Amino acid sequence: MSQAPAALGESPIAPASSLPSYLQADKLGPWGNYLQQVDRVIPHLGNLARWAETLKRPKRILIVDIPIHMDDGTVAHFEGYRVQHNVSRGPGKGGVRFHQDVTLSEVMALSAWMSVKNAAVNVPYGGAKGGIRVDPKKLSRGELERMTRRYTSEIGIIIGPNKDIPAPDVNTNEQIMAWMMDTYSMNTGSTSTGVVTGKPVDLGGSLGRREATGRGVFTVGTEAARHIGLDIATARVAVQGFGNVGGVAGKLFSETGARIIAVQDHGGTIFREAGLDVPALLQHVTDTGSVAGFADAEVLADEKFWDVDCDILIPAALEQQITAENAGRIKARMIIEGANGPTTPAADDILQERNVLVVPDVIANAGGVTVSYFEWVQDFSSFFWDEEEINARLVKIMKTAFAGVWQVAQEKKVSLRTATFIVACQRILHTRELRGLYP
Ligand code: GLU
Repeated sequence: MSQAPAALGESPIAPASSLPSYLQADKLGPWGNYLQQVDRVIPHLGNLARWAETLKRPKRILIVDIPIHMDDGTVAHFEGYRVQHNVSRGPGKGGVRFHQDVTLSEVMALSAWMSVKNAAVNVPYGGAKGGIRVDPKKLSRGELERMTRRYTSEIGIIIGPNKDIPAPDVNTNEQIMAWMMDTYSMNTGSTSTGVVTGKPVDLGGSLGRREATGRGVFTVGTEAARHIGLDIATARVAVQGFGNVGGVAGKLFSETGARIIAVQDHGGTIFREAGLDVPALLQHVTDTGSVAGFADAEVLADEKFWDVDCDILIPAALEQQITAENAGRIKARMIIEGANGPTTPAADDILQERNVLVVPDVIANAGGVTVSYFEWVQDFSSFFWDEEEINARLVKIMKTAFAGVWQVAQEKKVSLRTATFIVACQRILHTRELRGLYP
């Protein structure tokens, strides 16, 4: 008996609609959340929707084993990943995360959010992300360096200044980028500054890169606040995560007069109704590694953070923090996502119903990769700009991108997240169509 013909354009051998098992939405954590976000945007993509499967499948996934000599003479093996989600608009681009909870699902989702983010601010990149499942705080400096170098060597077959450009993310920094740049350069026999961004300024890094993500959060947050008539100068702000993103954003908000009343990080939760002394708190975090033990603040139980009466909430730590369990309790009028993926789709729905404006990660925290782009351009031309120029260009890109997304959200009556996905996915799939399928 002959089989029913496949739908037009679909292969009966491998139907485009049946995802490989490891890409399906159940049991998938962050990747499952991303798939739900994509499904919400497909009805708005018009003719380009026929390419939407592209968004649901990372282009390339590399899993590497990273064996290193530990200081005590033993050999330890770490699990590493580099995922290139999409390269239609340019080389892969996205950070590398060192964290004990890193999983393939997480790195896949983070790589996909990079595709969306890079398209949203219109920098000429696809999306990628990497990670090692390790608690770097448990390694000596020598162990950290050996692990970083071996990881870089292993993913060296797919990264490069025109292929895929890593950068810092959770628990990675300028020193780690310097080791990555050096390892890649040694392996290729050339000085290759453009292979990673977020490098030290003395090694082809860019002024303003370290602060760029926090500055972007502040810029976009200020624009969003203006649209909803929220006065930043009198706002009460709660921040989760006080590192490179939350710390810088908190500082910039406090400088306008806003009060940072609650901060939570891996060490605990602190609160002060009159506003925390932000410069002193930043110094405390630099000295001790967390907000725990900061004088002149009340200690709150971690769960109470979500009940804090504030105007602006900035999640700037890890994924899946705002869920169906706590979304109903949040008092803020506006959430600015400094972290990647902090809000689940179920929480998004609750917040929308409660009229809490969510400024999504894929636009709110795009300042980091925007200045990474400036760094990469400066490396290629070996001509470096001053900080004023960098910040001015950053603010211009962020404001333009946000204005476009805001307009789409109004026109189509969708959330800012769906609007950002509409703008970004149209750009990605348009280039997909222009390039066509090879062969
Ligand atoms: N890790 C940052 C992010 O999530 C920056 C990535 C980059 O600069 O490539 O956006």
